[in-house]
Amino acid sequence: MGPQKADILAKEFDIHTYGDLLHYFPFRVVDRSHVSTIDNFNSEEPYLVFRGRISDLHTITSGHSTRLEASFTDGTGTMTLVWFQGIKWIKESLRPGTVYNVMGKPSLYGSTLQLVHPDLEASSLYDEGPVHAFLPIYRTTEKAKNRGLGTKTIARITSTLLQHIPKELPETLPAQFVQKYHLLDRSTTLRKIHYPNTMEEWQQAILRVKFEELFYHQLDYQYSRIARKQHSVGRVFGSIGSHFNTFYNEHLPFPLTNAQKRVIKEIRSDMRSGRQMNRLLQGDVGSGKTLVALLTILIALDNQCQACLMAPTEILATQHFTNFQKYLANQNIQVELLVGSLKASQKKKIKQRLAIGEIDILIGTHALIEPDVQFQQLGYVVIDEQHRFGVEQRAKLWGKSTIPPHILVMTATPIPRTLAMTLYADLDCSIIDELPPGRQPVVTTHGTDANRSQLFHFMQKEIAKGRQVYVVYPLINESESLDLKDLMDGYESLSRSFPQPQYQLSIVHGQMPAEAKAYEMDRFKRGETHIMVSTTVIEVGVDVPNATVMVIENAERFGLSQLHQLRGRVGRGGGKSYCILMTKNDLSHTSKQRIQTMCNTSDGFAIAEADLRLRGPGDLQGLQQSGMLDLKMADLVDDEPLVCATRDEVNNLLKTDPDLQRPENHILLQYIQNHSHLPHWDKIS
Ligand code: ADP
Ligand code: MG
Repeated sequence: MGPQKADILAKEFDIHTYGDLLHYFPFRVVDRSHVSTIDNFNSEEPYLVFRGRISDLHTITSGHSTRLEASFTDGTGTMTLVWFQGIKWIKESLRPGTVYNVMGKPSLYGSTLQLVHPDLEASSLYDEGPVHAFLPIYRTTEKAKNRGLGTKTIARITSTLLQHIPKELPETLPAQFVQKYHLLDRSTTLRKIHYPNTMEEWQQAILRVKFEELFYHQLDYQYSRIARKQHSVGRVFGSIGSHFNTFYNEHLPFPLTNAQKRVIKEIRSDMRSGRQMNRLLQGDVGSGKTLVALLTILIALDNQCQACLMAPTEILATQHFTNFQKYLANQNIQVELLVGSLKASQKKKIKQRLAIGEIDILIGTHALIEPDVQFQQLGYVVIDEQHRFGVEQRAKLWGKSTIPPHILVMTATPIPRTLAMTLYADLDCSIIDELPPGRQPVVTTHGTDANRSQLFHFMQKEIAKGRQVYVVYPLINESESLDLKDLMDGYESLSRSFPQPQYQLSIVHGQMPAEAKAYEMDRFKRGETHIMVSTTVIEVGVDVPNATVMVIENAERFGLSQLHQLRGRVGRGGGKSYCILMTKNDLSHTSKQRIQTMCNTSDGFAIAEADLRLRGPGDLQGLQQSGMLDLKMADLVDDEPLVCATRDEVNNLLKTDPDLQRPENHILLQYIQNHSHLPHWDKIS
């Protein structure tokens, strides 16, 4: 291959070596031995092969656009081939009269059959090399295509490559797994994934690639978890002292649920172990994670350490701060709040006091990660609403202490099982699977504009009972002025239907200064306003028990987990609560299913599973930003059995050979040493 093509491969596909090229897999293979006919083809198929001749090439200009058309006939009928791009090159290279394989999906345009931008190959193309029954189709880019690197060319290059590499390539999986799961060996896999002889062979090759991908992902995470446990040093919180006991015996606001007790025990035993704790606490919205955080923080304090609690928004951090102050009012414990909106002088003061150990508990946002935030003796870190913090951010907090602090990561967004296994395989997991007593499920209904006066009437009735109402608007992107306009319009229309002085309305959105937000939140919390109109800022963790109605506008634009979170804001005070999902009239099938799911179930885990199924993992809230989901072939929905199998295999493997010292596991150790992308325990501690 010439340097120019090599350059395009590098730039467009990140292919730099033969190895890279070998691992650039086709996303589809086409059975070329199966040729369709124009008069009788299966229009359901995504991709078909026709064989025939091209005639009558001509360009057509209409308005600003030019297209190239050709007539193609296979003896049973005729269709029109159309190109909008690369016209000059195609026109010069096509040879009328030659037999071509024409591939793609034809569609009817008026009464003529058209195929736009078909894949083409002269039937004689593969004469030099072996003839493959199946043709691989590779993803390519417009730029690469224009430089002659379409899928056809890539196919020719991989075909050549496969002829020149050794028959036997080194194996990358221990033989026991290849045998147990009837996987193809690696050499066969890499050949068959490009050029299978049957569709079954291709599927088998894909299975092996997926298995390997998931297996190594698990190995990476689980190995690092075990290595950390074995080799890391952790502070030993040996005793429970007066901070914990005083609070537990004298100030606990309500008896703990059994699930809360169990989870605290799990955390306590980690803290005693002499190893650093890295634990994920999953619990549905409203399950009482804050209290678990508080109680375990008190254990850290009892062992002469400081603790910090990190939340994703200022509102939430402030709320935690207020709650902690309230709970700890009668104890001699210094709690402080560090958020971005504080004055520089205030921040400085806090940092100084923190460094000399005058502050026991520091609550805050991302501001806590800043390098100049230095603790005297940081022993315990709690991260609330984990999905917004990635692995690396966690690691930054570890660095704040010579002995790594214990870490508790709390997430309110229930994570589907397969996803949790994949994303958090490096954490131990605790689950609060029980809500505090007396909770009633939130009655959830679906409404459209036609029901609006009914809705307002209902809101008035609830407010008359002394209740409060949230009205939430989506804000996908805080700078999207359209979303803000929606919110403002909604606010105005509400102001008309709920006039002062009888009704008081609050409004909170992302573009307001932090103090203004806090002021409005406070008014609502104190019951001074009846309706809180807001964007998703209240989404995470805000707690106003007197609020019983949650109206969500444009609900179809929210993710299911987000809707579930929002709904979790009501139904907290024991009063019967309602969630009304307002949408436009004509919903897509998927949107309808999602709204139905919300109306039918209040189980956060079921909802998370449904979300994963309906939208795919890439869309799950927070995951995109986190960039944690880097699977190329495997699919967390379709391949759930494989996810479970690989997790269990790796688990067993590391139980019997935690350091991967057995000869048959050497290839795995090598992989870990060369490829691990996780922050490694020895680099951190
Ligand atoms: P989340 O898990 O969503 O963070 P919170 O910690 O905010 O939930 O708790 C939700 C509500 O439940 C709060 O009002 C809290 O005071 C209350 N709560 C927590 N634990 C209990 C309990 N054991 N019994 C009764 N209410 C509780
Ligand atoms: Mg919470």
